[in-house]
Formats: sequence, structure tokens, C-alpha cells
Amino acid sequence: MSRSVLVTGGNRGIGLAIARSLADAGDKVAITYRSGEPPKELSDRGVLAVKCDITDQEQVEQAYKEVEDVHGRVEVVVANAAINRDQLLLRMTEEDFTAVLETNLTGTFRVVKRASRGMLRARNGRIVLISSVVGLSGSAGQVNYAAAKSGLVGFARSVARELASRNITCNVVAPGFVDTDMTRALGEERRAEIVGQVPLGRYAQPEEVAAVVRFLASEDAAYITGAVIPVDGGLGMGH
Ligand code: NDP
Repeated sequence: MSRSVLVTGGNRGIGLAIARSLADAGDKVAITYRSGEPPKELSDRGVLAVKCDITDQEQVEQAYKEVEDVHGRVEVVVANAAINRDQLLLRMTEEDFTAVLETNLTGTFRVVKRASRGMLRARNGRIVLISSVVGLSGSAGQVNYAAAKSGLVGFARSVARELASRNITCNVVAPGFVDTDMTRALGEERRAEIVGQVPLGRYAQPEEVAAVVRFLASEDAAYITGAVIPVDGGLGMGH
């Protein structure tokens, strides 16, 4: 079955691994990218790349139009795009707080709301949100990021309840520490400290998160909705 899939922030990191995985499974995949050029391997795989900043409602609408023109209405959406601006509470500016909420939470709202339109009409759909272990455990220096990631859980469970009668599921994946640009920015000392706290003793590879997203998007996961699935090497121990 080849479905129309949209992955936000699919030009690198976890989003890229998700796009690869679903394209390899035979889906018609589109990704959004915000800056730079999407990697050539995506066009080689037949993945459509559309430019979109999820903080801008008009760009979200335009991206959906482009995807629908080529692949038809979106049947699976993976809200993955996010930023972090880490700082201790006392030093965190309101601008850093709201920028992270605006991208990670309100941006996801824009993307999911637009996807739900077509899904409701079709009485079918899969929504997967990428949260984080820190949304449930909290994290010093990340009050903005953890608040947004925690907010996604309440968001997803409300969407799951609203849309369940139309055969639309909405689930959350909560990764622990994954080897991407976001965590490479932490520096060696902090990275070693983190690994020491993870029972499995290593970072996840983006493909290990993608495999869970692929499952939640599949027919096999038809009876799972409103769930938070950790992919964290035991860091949260199921929260
Ligand atoms: P990266 O920083 O590697 O990639 C983030 C992606 O989001 C990029 O494609 C980026 O685009 C895009 N993006 C950021 N802001 C916007 C915006 N306003 N509009 C559109 N796209 C945007 O992150 P990861 O791959 O590491 O993370 C992916 C997801 O997984 C995120 O939700 C993150 O919070 C979550 N996560 C990551 C963990 C980790 O350890 N890496 C752990 C737990 C959760 P651009 O290239 O233009 O910057």
C-alpha cells in the first residue's frame, strides 16, 4: 500500500531517517525542509521536498498544497521538526521560551490541524508526534523544550480522542538521546555524562526511532492511539 506521507524537518537527523524508512517501505513520502537544500539521496529515492517554516501558517498551507498536488491528500503525518534553545530558567529570555513553544508546540498544531482536514474526510489517518524523554522527566536547562515536548502529550491525547471515531490514530514517540546534530552540539563531556545515565549505555541511532514511527504508521498499529512510546535505552523506564 503506497500512502501519501508528510514528515516535517525531514532533511536531516531523525526526520531524514523516518523519510528514508517510509520511502523504502513503498510510501509516497514528502518532507519539509526549512533551510539549505535537501540531501540528494531523497530525490534519488523519489521523496518530494517542499520548503516550509512551520512557524508560518501560510507556508504550512502552501506545503500541503504542493504535496497534495503530487501525492494526493496526506494520509500519514509525522510532526518531527523542532528546535532547542537551552538555558537555565533564571537566564532564559522570554524570547527563547516562546520561540521554542512556537516551533515545537504551535508549529505542530498548525501541521496536524491541516492534515486532519483530509483525514477526517477520508475517515482514515495516522498522526505521529516526536516528543522527547525530557517532556516526561524534565531536564535542567530545558524548561522551554521540556514544556513544549510535554505539551505534545496532552495535545496528542486530545487529538486521539477527537478523531478516534473517524479511524484516525494519534501517537507520540519519546526518544531519549539520539545521535544527531541536536545532541552533537552538546560537547564531549556532557555527551559522556548522558551515556552514563542510559541503561543501554549508548546513544540511539536515528533509524531506531524511525522503526517505531514506521510501526505506529502501519496497519499493524491500528488499535494503538493516545500512546507515548519511549525509544530511550531505558532512560525513562517507561515513565
Ligand atoms: P535536528 O536538529 O537534527 O533537526 C531538526 C529538524 O527540524 C531540521 O530539519 C530543522 O530544519 C527542522 N526545523 C526546525 N525548526 C523548524 C521550523 N521552524 N520549521 C520547519 N522546520 C524546522 O533534530 P533531530 O533530528 O535531533 O530531532 C528531530 C526530533 O526529535 C525533534 O522533534 C527533537 O526535538 C526530537 N528529539 C531529538 C532527540 C535527540 O537526541 N536528537 C531526543 C529526543 C527528541 P533546518 O535544517 O532548517 O534547521
